[in-house]
Amino acid sequence: MGDEIERRDKGAVTATVPWEYAAAPESKEIVRIQDRYGLFIEGRFVDPLSGRTFETINPATEETLSVVSEAGPEDVDLAVRAAEKAWESSWRDLPGRERAKYLYRIARSLQERSREFAVLESLNGGKPIKESRDVDLPLAAAHFFYYAGWADKLAYAFPNREPRPLGVAGQVIPWNFPILMAAWKLAPALATGNTAVLKPAETTPLTALLLAEVIQEADLPPGVVNIVTGAGETGAALVNHPGVAKVAFTGSTEVGKIIRRAIAGTGKRLTLELGGKAANIVFEDAPIDQAIEGIVNGIYFNQGHVCCAGSRLLVQESVFEPVLDKLKERLGTLRVGDPLDKNTDVGAINSAAQLSRIKELVESGIQEGAEIYQPECHLPERGFWFCPTLFTGVSQSHRIAREEIFGPVLSILTFRTPEEALEKANNTPYGLSAGVWTEKGSRILWMTQRLRAGVIWANTFNRFDPSSPFGGYKESGFGREGGLHGLEPYLDLVPR
Ligand code: NAP
Ligand code: MG
Repeated sequence: MGDEIERRDKGAVTATVPWEYAAAPESKEIVRIQDRYGLFIEGRFVDPLSGRTFETINPATEETLSVVSEAGPEDVDLAVRAAEKAWESSWRDLPGRERAKYLYRIARSLQERSREFAVLESLNGGKPIKESRDVDLPLAAAHFFYYAGWADKLAYAFPNREPRPLGVAGQVIPWNFPILMAAWKLAPALATGNTAVLKPAETTPLTALLLAEVIQEADLPPGVVNIVTGAGETGAALVNHPGVAKVAFTGSTEVGKIIRRAIAGTGKRLTLELGGKAANIVFEDAPIDQAIEGIVNGIYFNQGHVCCAGSRLLVQESVFEPVLDKLKERLGTLRVGDPLDKNTDVGAINSAAQLSRIKELVESGIQEGAEIYQPECHLPERGFWFCPTLFTGVSQSHRIAREEIFGPVLSILTFRTPEEALEKANNTPYGLSAGVWTEKGSRILWMTQRLRAGVIWANTFNRFDPSSPFGGYKESGFGREGGLHGLEPYLDLVPR
C-alpha cells in the first residue's frame, strides 16, 4: 500500500499538472477585528483630533476590515508629547533590568497570541499564512526577546562608553512586514531607554494596533509606545516634529531621500532602510536543486514584497539551461491564492497601487525585448493578484534589471566568469543583499569581500536572525538594525 502511494506520488512529480490540494483554510475565528480603531496615545485608544478616518481592506478580497484613524499634525504632536513625558518622567531612568521585564512580557504575549497575529497579518496584508505564521511572528517575538536581553547589558556592549538614550524615536514602517518591522523598530528603541511613536503603513495598520493592545496588557508605562495610523503626511509630520530625537525609517529610497533632506541640520539621528535589487548568483558547481529552492524563496516568497528579494538571478552560462528548466517546472507547482490557506505559496499583492506598479514594470520588460514566462495560473476574480513571472534575455540596461519591482518577478541574466558575475551584481544603485551559490568556500569568501551589499547569503537566501545586523550600502540606506549594531543608532555613546 505504502509503495503504491509512493509510486503514484513519484508519477505526479514529473507530470505537468501537479496534484490538487484540498482547501486548508486557517480559521478567522481567532481574530476579533473592531469596527473602528482610535490612535494609541499615552496608553489609551483615543479619537483623532483631525476627525479623519480611512478604511483598511483585505487585499485578497477587497472587503473592508475596519475603519482606522488618520492622525493629523495635532495628533502626532500629542503622541510625541506623550512620548517625551514618559521618557522624562520614568523610562529614561528605569534600570535596564526593569525595562527588560516589559520587553520579555511583550515577547511572550506575541508568542502566546501568535496565531491571532498571523491570521490578522495575512488578512490585512495578503501574505500567505504559512509565512506570517512561520516567519513573521516567530521573528517578531525573537526580536523582543533578543533586545530584552541587551537592556541591562549596554555597558558591556560598549566598553569605556556611557550609553545614553536619545529621547523620542519617530519610526515609520512599510507594509511588507508590518508586525516584524514594528518589532525591529520598537524592541531596540525601548531596550536602550528611548520612547517611541510608530507610524505603520497606510495599507497595513491592524497588527500594529493589536500590538498596542499587547502593550497595554504588558502594563508598559503610558506614553512609552504610541502608535499613530495614517498615510504619508502622518509620517512626514512625525519625522519633522521637533520633539523627535531619532528617526528610523524603512521604505522606499524616494521617501528616504525626502526625509534625509527634511531633517538635515536639525541634529536628529537617522537610520534609513530602503530599497534593493539583489543579485542571486548561481555558479556552475552549485547544488542546483537547493539553489532552485533558494531562488524561489528569494523572489516569490511574500509575493516579492521584500526589499532584499533576490530579484536578479545571475546564472553561470554553462548551467543556464538546467537551471531555467527546473525553475520553470518549480514555478508551475507554486500555489497562488487564498492567503489564509495553509498550502498557499504566493498570496495577494498588497494593494491596487502596488499591483499597477508591478504590471507597468513587467510591461516595460516586454517592450524592451526581454522574454516573459509565466506558468498556467488561475487567479481569483476579486482582490489583487500577480502570477509568478520570470524574464530571460534580460540585459543590464532594461528597467526590469535596474528598478525595484517589489513583486513576484525575476529577471535572469547570465555570466561566464566570477569577475563578470561580480561586475553585474554590483552594477546597481542599491546594495541591500546578495546571494552566492557554489560548493567552493574560497569563492564564497572572494565574492563576499567584493559584493557591495549589506547582507550576503551563501547557499541560502532570505534568512533572518535578530542577532544578525541588517542594512544597506549606497541607495539602500545606512545604519544597521539587528544585533549589537542595532543598539547604537538609539544611543549617545559618551566617553567615560
Ligand atoms: P514608502 O512609500 O516609502 O512608505 C514607507 C512608509 O513611509 C509608509 O509608512 C508611508 O506611509 C510613509 N511615508 C510616505 N511618505 C512619507 C513622507 N514624506 N515622510 C514620512 N513618511 C512617509 O514605501 P512603500 O511603498 O510603502 O514600501 C515599499 C518600499 O519600501 C520598497 O521600495 C522597499 O524596497 C522598501 N522597503 C525597504 C525595506 C528595508 O528594510 N530596507 C523593508 C521594507 C520595504 P503610507 O504607507 O501611508 O504611504
Ligand atoms: Mg505611500
